[in-house]
Amino acid sequence: MQTKKIKTDGLIIKQQNIGEQDRLVTILTRKLGVIRAFVRQGKNIKSRNCASTGLLCYSEFTLFKSKKDYYTVDNAQLLNMFSDLKKELTKLSLAEYFCEVAAVVCPSEQEAEEHLRLILNALYLLSKGEIPELLIKSAVEMRLSSISGYMPDLLMCPRCGIYEDEEMYFLLSGQIFCKNCFEKNPLPQGIKISKSLALALRHLVFSEDKKLFSFSLSESSLKLLSNITEEYLSRKVERNFATLQFYKTVSS
Ligand SMILES: [Zn+2]
Repeated sequence: MQTKKIKTDGLIIKQQNIGEQDRLVTILTRKLGVIRAFVRQGKNIKSRNCASTGLLCYSEFTLFKSKKDYYTVDNAQLLNMFSDLKKELTKLSLAEYFCEVAAVVCPSEQEAEEHLRLILNALYLLSKGEIPELLIKSAVEMRLSSISGYMPDLLMCPRCGIYEDEEMYFLLSGQIFCKNCFEKNPLPQGIKISKSLALALRHLVFSEDKKLFSFSLSESSLKLLSNITEEYLSRKVERNFATLQFYKTVSS
């Protein structure tokens, strides 16, 4: 069968060893979305592709596609390995959670420019350590949901059309109600949120990419936001993430 050569940058989001020498990696690529690729001699430290195909390596890949859904890494040129993340267990475990989520929600076999940029920005900010971890976590969860087909409907209260209220209720199905409408006719699993938290949720869905991580909330609101965005994502994709449980264990 004829092979096809493809060049794209991408982030290694999963790495498995095969036998003594080889690796199977999952890559979030710009041009092809999430793909799985085989790295011959990937475990061998003398191999040219060893250092550029480990977990969290962002590299420029030359790939060969031989069969459907099957790629081989011919060459991988390391661009960034986020080594600062590997020095702190909480940061590393949050980064691994982002990778696990990306592997589940990002598209396969189609371009994923926006998804890749989001995860790379999140890893960069996480490694710099100037923005609260929970803010980065919430931004990834809600923005990744939104661009992967799970955008919540946060424009207005669906019953009366009001845009904002001092208190609002967020439903994990992805709607936001004003206080009056909700309390007149409550729905199960409504979470009471402040106006600032409602605005933060909207920001995560609608803001420009470059402003996504630029907002602030009190520590208690940030915790609630983080609980909401993680529960929202988990329900939409109908699964839990082992890496998230691990992050909670090491960060508490
Ligand atoms: Zn209303």
